[in-house]
Amino acid sequence: MTTRLAIVMPCYNEEEVLPESGRRLVELLNRLQNDNVIAAGSLICFVDDGSTDQTWEIIQSLALTESRVCGIKLSCNRGHQSALLAGVLTVEGDAIVTIDADLQDDVNAIEEMVRRFQQGFDIVYGVRRSRATDTTFKRSSAQAYYKLLRLMGAKVVYGHADFRLLGRRAVESLREYSEVNLFLRGIVPQLGFPATAVYYDRVKRFAGVSKYPLRRMLGLAIDGITSFSIMPLRLISALGIVVCSLSIAMVVWVTYGHFVLNSTIPGWASSVIPIYFLGGIQMLSIGVVGEYVAKVYLETKRRPRYFIEQTVRAASTEVGQHGRIFEQQDGDGSSAIEERITPLP
Ligand code: UDP
Ligand code: MG
Repeated sequence: MTTRLAIVMPCYNEEEVLPESGRRLVELLNRLQNDNVIAAGSLICFVDDGSTDQTWEIIQSLALTESRVCGIKLSCNRGHQSALLAGVLTVEGDAIVTIDADLQDDVNAIEEMVRRFQQGFDIVYGVRRSRATDTTFKRSSAQAYYKLLRLMGAKVVYGHADFRLLGRRAVESLREYSEVNLFLRGIVPQLGFPATAVYYDRVKRFAGVSKYPLRRMLGLAIDGITSFSIMPLRLISALGIVVCSLSIAMVVWVTYGHFVLNSTIPGWASSVIPIYFLGGIQMLSIGVVGEYVAKVYLETKRRPRYFIEQTVRAASTEVGQHGRIFEQQDGDGSSAIEERITPLP
């Protein structure tokens, strides 16, 4: 039995690259189907993450001209991770590949991913062979960050971002995670199903600019640490113990100096420096604790992660069993775009 493949592509203001990305993916699916690697119902699902440019219009026209293409439009910009999840949890397929719209990841690696899936792996990570095309800053900060994450106990795959294949079992398991602060590259390795990696060379963005400015990257980085590790809290406790021990040692030293050496000079430094030092540590600690409290606060709200505003697909495509991609046919069988707001669990 061949695999029914779905490719999910999150898009935020990607009008410059979308026509080319769509063309390459359709070409790939046609080729894989001709080679009998994938089944006939395989499709491509573009998720418009609240774009303000022509992205949705391009997706609509692709969907109406290509039977393999469908589109999901989120009601507003919810971020890369949520857009990606919206696509993965919505589309049908035995295996779902997620890939960025900018063609930095190698589309041709998808074939190898599918083959690995057919060999029995539920999860296939796309791992970049080198980071030669990244800026020095991005490369070194990413390396340091992955090391830090691992040190803190999160299982992340070095060199892997969000280019991966998930089998149906893995997707259904992912559905069970209800957290709002999504850091998929930390969650997926936790699923525990058989996993492997395929390697590819990451190239420069095909067109347009990065949709991940420093502020967003930092946000994702902080989410990654605080969602997967309580190590910062432990470090605070350890720091507290060290500082307390030092203060006790200082008391002993001062007492010794006073009674035995008779040489204590009551000084400004010894009284003012500890005030600043401890004040700093306390503020830092409160900040880190606050980070976790904020997380608990956000998670307890159980807010939905996204709303689908519109979906589009060609008339000939089958309706999935989860029924979350809708199809509406006109009397003459031509395709139409349906508009409705659908909160997902
Ligand atoms: N993206 C998204 N929502 C956002 C930001 C980005 O769906 O709020 C998508 C974007 O369209 C692209 C992917 O996430 O397909 C990765 O973004 P980008 O390539 O700009 O990130 P970089 O490669 O620069 O880290
Ligand atoms: Mg990119």
